[in-house]
Amino acid sequence: MRSSGYDNEALALDPSPPTHFPSSGCTQSASVERVPGSRRTPDLISCAPPQIKVVAAARKLATMQAPRADAYVFDIDGTLLVTRDLVHWNALHQAMLEVYGVDTTIEGIPYHGKTDLSILRAALARAGVDDGRFRTGLERALVVIRRDVEAGHDAIIPMVCPGIPRFLESIQKAGKLIGVASGNLEAVGWRKIEAAGLKQFFSFGFFSDGCESRAGIFRNALTYIADKLGPWARTCFVGDTPFDIEAAREVGAAIVAVASGTFTFDELTACSPDLCLSDCGQLFRD
Ligand SMILES: [Mg+2]
Repeated sequence: MRSSGYDNEALALDPSPPTHFPSSGCTQSASVERVPGSRRTPDLISCAPPQIKVVAAARKLATMQAPRADAYVFDIDGTLLVTRDLVHWNALHQAMLEVYGVDTTIEGIPYHGKTDLSILRAALARAGVDDGRFRTGLERALVVIRRDVEAGHDAIIPMVCPGIPRFLESIQKAGKLIGVASGNLEAVGWRKIEAAGLKQFFSFGFFSDGCESRAGIFRNALTYIADKLGPWARTCFVGDTPFDIEAAREVGAAIVAVASGTFTFDELTACSPDLCLSDCGQLFRD
């Protein structure tokens, strides 16, 4: 009946057997499939009692549907892709060393879901750099990050998250406006997206260059969308952290949370997104 699952407000699921739907609108599909360190555990299902197998099979057939929207705006890290290199990491290190004279890294900083500016601020504060010194050196630090990522972009190794190409193709085919809202610096974010082969899907992007808060980045995206489509345009953000959910709520937009990054399905569900997915592959039946 449905050829794709991106454009209906209701959550859809095969009729039987019944499957639990949390009140947030999210459907749990991961509870019998996930073990630490693994996104999917077919061995666990194959060893399960018959009734668990039946429920697991039903959940595999489930097709989730993203909130109806005119524009879809994606986070990068953990949502569109995961990088398996140190290009961005090393650029942040070099910026702190070169501009502030501090030989430190972002190791131990809870950087997932944070903007580059807030990550830098936290790492430097930990190393004893006060706010005034941070602000004084910030623009030069950003120049260093952009410079080093540009110089090393060939070494970026992105892994595209499951279901993302199909989701993007579907909403592009449907004529939706598609953009990026990321805590990366603009030059860094686009390089990652280019390396992943996804650039052709996006017509705009908002980043952290002049905006330390994620909600501020989201708000800038909404302003752009309203300018392009009108004040009543509906926007749905897609992100992988509680910070994406929080920012979308702050600006009054819908949010799809995907557990393709660091945070688990249960951690994201607890933040009550409009829809929570193990990954975007759940938007499609096959
Ligand atoms: Mg992210």
